[in-house]
Amino acid sequence: MVKRNTNMAKLTAGYLFPEINRRKREYLQKNPSAKIISLGIGNTTEPLTPHVVEGLRKEVDRLSTREGYSGYGDEQGITEFRAQLAEKLYGGLIKGDEVFISDGAKCDIARLQTMFGSEVTMAVQDPSYPVYVDGSVISGVTGYYNDARCQFDNIVYMKCCLENDFFPDLSSQQRTDLIYFCSPNNPTGAVASKKQLSELVEFARKNRSIIIFDSAYSEYISDPSLPKSIYEIEGAREVAIEVSSFSKPIGFTGVRLGWTVVPDQLKFDDGTPVRNDWNRIMTTLFNGASNIAQHGGMAALEAAGLAEMRSLITYYMDNAKIIKQALDRKGIKSCGGINAPYVWAHFPGRKSWEVFTEILEKCQIVTTPGAGFGPAGEGFIRFSAFGHREDFIEAVKRLEIL
Ligand code: PLP
Repeated sequence: MVKRNTNMAKLTAGYLFPEINRRKREYLQKNPSAKIISLGIGNTTEPLTPHVVEGLRKEVDRLSTREGYSGYGDEQGITEFRAQLAEKLYGGLIKGDEVFISDGAKCDIARLQTMFGSEVTMAVQDPSYPVYVDGSVISGVTGYYNDARCQFDNIVYMKCCLENDFFPDLSSQQRTDLIYFCSPNNPTGAVASKKQLSELVEFARKNRSIIIFDSAYSEYISDPSLPKSIYEIEGAREVAIEVSSFSKPIGFTGVRLGWTVVPDQLKFDDGTPVRNDWNRIMTTLFNGASNIAQHGGMAALEAAGLAEMRSLITYYMDNAKIIKQALDRKGIKSCGGINAPYVWAHFPGRKSWEVFTEILEKCQIVTTPGAGFGPAGEGFIRFSAFGHREDFIEAVKRLEIL
C-alpha cells in the first residue's frame, strides 16, 4: 500500500464548498420538494456575452481548418494577448512579458505554492479564500501545530474585522515570507484603499516579504479612488506578484482563463529574478491556456467585450444591492456588496454554521457560513451576488421571515 501524504491529513475538515453541498443534499433528502435558492458559492450564472462568444467561435473555426490549426502554444500565453492585457487592464503599469496567461487564478495560486516550497512562512487575511491556507498546507507549509492557538506556526492569520475596517493592524504583525492579500476581498467584500495598500507595500518592503495579491474581483470596483491593482502603489513592483482571472468579470468560471503578473524587479534573496523561476514552473507544470479561451479573452479586451463586461458586472452588482437592501430592512448589518460581489452580513453573538442552517431551513436559501473562511469569519454569513435576478427577488421575499 502507498503511504498517505501526511500534509493531506493536516487539512482541517472538508473543503468548505463540498461541505455546504453535503448539507444542502442532506436537507433535500429530508425535504425533497424544497426549492432551494443558492446564494452561496461564488459561481457565475449568466451566459457568455455575444462579442466574447464570437471571439471563441472564430478560434474554433480557425482550428477546424488545416491551415489554421495549431497545437500547443507558448506556455506563457499568446504574446499579443499578454500585451493587450497589460495595456487595457493595467494601463501600461506592467509589461506584456510580465504577464503569464493561465487556466485560472486558483491553479496559479497552487503553482505559486509549489514554486515557493514548504520552507516559507506565510500570512493570510482572516477570513480569506480557503485556497491560500489549504493549498499551502498541502504543499507542506505548516511548521509545528500550536495546540493553544489551534494553528500551524508557519501560517499567520491577520485578523480583518469590523473594528479594523477589514484591514490588518500591521504594527503588531509578525514578519512572514509571503503575504496573501485579496482585494476586493472574498468573502468580506472589503476593498483596500490606496493608503491601506501603500501601508501593506511598505510593510513588505521593510520586511523583505513577497505579497501575493489576488485581484480576481478588481473589475467590480466602481469607485475610481480605489486601486484595482497592487501595481498602482509605488514600490509594489519590487515586492508583489498579482494573480487574477477572467472568471468573475466575464463569466469564464467554466471556460477557464486567468493570469499572474511577475514584475522584472521582483527578486529572491539571492538576487534570482522570481520571474525566471515562475517561467520554469509554468513551462514545466503547465502546457499553456486553451487557445480557444485565450481568443475569448482577447475579444473581452476589445471595446465591445469591455462593454459587455461592464453590463455583466452591473447585473451582478444590482443583485448585491437587492440583498443589501433586504438585510437593511431586517436590521441586519452588512458590509461589502458595493465594489465587490459579496455581501458580508453580521449576526453578532451567533455561530455562522447555525445561522447557515437557520436560513436553509426557514428560507430554503443556501448561503456561506463565515467561519468557513477563517476564525474571524465567525458570526458572519456571506451572500454572493452571482445568481439569476428572479432568484434574488424570490430570495428577499423569503428572507422576510427570518
Ligand atoms: N481568487 C479568489 C479570491 C476567488 O474567490 C476565486 C474564485 O472564487 C478565485 C481566485 C478562483 O479564480 P479562477 O476561477 O480563475 O480559478
